[in-house]
Amino acid sequence: MVDASNSPADRLRQKGLRPSYHRIRVLEYLCQQKEGHPTVDEIFEALSPDIPSLSKTTVYNTLHTFVKAGLARAVDIDEAQTRFDGTISEHGHFQCDACGAITNFAVDIDRIPVAGLDQFEISERNIYFRGLCPKCHKLQKQ
Ligand SMILES: [Zn+2]
Ligand SMILES: [Zn+2]
Repeated sequence: MVDASNSPADRLRQKGLRPSYHRIRVLEYLCQQKEGHPTVDEIFEALSPDIPSLSKTTVYNTLHTFVKAGLARAVDIDEAQTRFDGTISEHGHFQCDACGAITNFAVDIDRIPVAGLDQFEISERNIYFRGLCPKCHKLQKQ
């Protein structure tokens, strides 16, 4: 098990990735956004004032390297753009149709009955729910 308290550099090394400055900063940022699920653009905009050498392509490539290495998850609940998640433990995502906020929720995917996939190799299991968050639900009732 990867210890989440390890430094970003340690976590990169554990996955066989060279701990370059850009990778460390992107991973650090991603893991600080507990409920944020930022997009490539959001990460770039947050970090680029501080790291002038950073390009959007680097952020994009870095995130895809992380996903492949198991350091991050790609969240495709948003039709407009892929979001990224530094929380790699199993959880579902709920997106509010009104404000767009994405919330993590606990789910035991192993206990969801699935039939008809015996011959398939599964590489990813995502649980996506949509609806209204409590804040927007309350507003609609007023
Ligand atoms: Zn909402
Ligand atoms: Zn998440």
